Amino acid sequence: MSRRFFAAFDLSPDQFELSGPEAHHLLRVLRMKTGEQVWLFDGQGHEVLAEILGTEEHGLSAQFKILERRTADNDSAVSLTIATGVPKGDRFSWLVEKLVELGVQRLIPLISKHSIVDPGAGKLDKLRRTIIEASKQCGRTRLMELAEPQSWSACVAQEFPNHSVYIAHPGGESFEWSTLGRENSQPGVRPPLFLVGPEGGFTETEIAQAVHFGARLVRLGTHILRIETAAVAIAALVGLQVKDQ
Ligand code: SAH
Repeated sequence: MSRRFFAAFDLSPDQFELSGPEAHHLLRVLRMKTGEQVWLFDGQGHEVLAEILGTEEHGLSAQFKILERRTADNDSAVSLTIATGVPKGDRFSWLVEKLVELGVQRLIPLISKHSIVDPGAGKLDKLRRTIIEASKQCGRTRLMELAEPQSWSACVAQEFPNHSVYIAHPGGESFEWSTLGRENSQPGVRPPLFLVGPEGGFTETEIAQAVHFGARLVRLGTHILRIETAAVAIAALVGLQVKDQ
């Protein structure tokens, strides 16, 4: 597969210019030259094959002409949202990268009672870059959405009504994951939202409230998992239910 680059702009004109971090990657890291071809994707399901017409090494930009277009929607058939407590340090960017690879549609950093890490705006911007890099590497054409951090009560009020809600909970039931893929292909079924707690877990009150609003408690094996292990296990169990098209 040829090199892939992210275009944060409309790819409909036949010629365009690439600048910013992607031009840096193209010109400084990969040292690509006029005449070479690359794929670019806009994160919304469109991809183009384009040829470098000219480069500006100092201003760091490259001009392209489009050779071929394709609408390439290779997202998983289950539109999965995961709301998770935020692990410390680099573990959150690891989690973000893995959820991109596994086809999660939307990730909500969740601030519940026992949360200790609140990702600031700077960190979220860095994570958006991580999403782009992971998408380039894994061939994904739509970007995973990283939502603004949500409080527990905002999540309950805004997200619960639109989703079938599942809480990852060590005391939950063991779940028949294959039912999810089947349920999801039925018309009118709300897409799944999985909640993963912070390192301190959800409180009894949070669990009771979630159950009151219709959430199901599901168990992921017999050991206590880290936030990122639980999130990645869910993404794999849900995302890989549906056969590849
Ligand atoms: N001390 C907490 C564990 C927190 S682990 C407790 O005992 O509840 C962080 C989060 O990962 C949990 O809130 C839960 O959502 C998820 N998790 C960890 N292990 C799990 C398991 N075996 N089954 C389901 N969810 C789990």
